[in-house]
Amino acid sequence: MHNSTLQTFPGDPPVEELRSIPEIDHGPDLYLQYRGQRLLNLASNNYLGLAGSQSMKKAALQAVEKFGASSGASRLISGNYSLYTRLEETLCRFKETQASLVFGSGYAANLGILSALAHRKCLIFSDRLNHASIIDGIILSRATHIRYRHADVEHLSYLLQKQSSQAPKILITDTVFSMDGDRASLIDIVELCKKHKVMSIVDEAHATGVLGRGKGLAGELGLNREIDLHMGTFSKALGSYGGYAACSRAIRELLVNRARSFIYSTSLPPAVTGACLEGLQQVLKNPEQGRKLLDIARDFRSFLQNLGFDTLRSTTQIIPVIMHSSTKTLQAQKELMQSGIYVAAVRPPTVPAGSARLRLSLRADMGDKEIEMARQALINLSCRKFNNERR
Ligand SMILES: *Cc1c(COP(=O)(O)O)cnc(C)c1O
Repeated sequence: MHNSTLQTFPGDPPVEELRSIPEIDHGPDLYLQYRGQRLLNLASNNYLGLAGSQSMKKAALQAVEKFGASSGASRLISGNYSLYTRLEETLCRFKETQASLVFGSGYAANLGILSALAHRKCLIFSDRLNHASIIDGIILSRATHIRYRHADVEHLSYLLQKQSSQAPKILITDTVFSMDGDRASLIDIVELCKKHKVMSIVDEAHATGVLGRGKGLAGELGLNREIDLHMGTFSKALGSYGGYAACSRAIRELLVNRARSFIYSTSLPPAVTGACLEGLQQVLKNPEQGRKLLDIARDFRSFLQNLGFDTLRSTTQIIPVIMHSSTKTLQAQKELMQSGIYVAAVRPPTVPAGSARLRLSLRADMGDKEIEMARQALINLSCRKFNNERR
């Protein structure tokens, strides 16, 4: 390798803050293993605890028995199979759309959707805190990227009014923001899109399975039919893997013909597709699990706020606990491990400078014992913080 490949790029963190892969086992389970230690897992996106359930394992195994370990090709060649059709039919009933299309991952879905629907003469309006896969999709599309301040509908309205150009316009927003745990003002956003003739796309990665009896924020607000494309992932609350777009038949056809991350990539293996279908069916069968999780989260948030922690404007199962500096965040993560719980330490550039934080992902399979454990761990942390501040 030529040495210049290893040179520092602009934006790289200092050496002492380099990322590394933690030594974790059983990452989706309620208790994970970290360097041999058993810790309550408040770091995964397996919000409903579906990933390790018997029914999901069984669905994956049955699909392997019937179809084997791989799909063998892209879906447009010979990689299609009947489970795919069933999955997409179930998905469009769930999202109340005419059609749907499954992608290799949520990341691949955003890349494919945005580069297929936008070209270099388009304008894409995007919340400043949208997920990295959305930003990469916009870059790949070569459209003009117009960022509005996070969750600021007035700023969005101002930017839309300022644009007199006849260029095609697209708006895309996370519905639940992955690092702040707050929600997009979807009612106002949809209204603005209609007024300004903007195509609307929502990314429901963290909302699917949780909000709106599992249907996401659009479902909760009764907006399913008002939005042009619903994007999401099977890899979070739904306990499997893979991304999707739920939309009109016309948009689906366009994606099948233009989305390169769909066309030029092998389709999902049967084990994964089988688990996706089962995850979706579980949410349809038990739609109140999301509500239960949101209730746990609401109580936990007020508990944290009473301890004096800043949880930003979270209203969901994702709860940031602001520590400001990266050093403090890593220290707090370590202290919580000593109390038996594992949480994510999120630092710049994933979040803005000065807003390094712990990120708690609560889960519907927490019982009273786990909730009490988590409370005690955060009480310990707040005592130490208070003592340090007094000194
Ligand atoms: C996780 C996530 C994705 C990517 O989904 P994967 O299936 O993990 O690739 C896309 N958008 C948002 C908002 C996410 O949180």
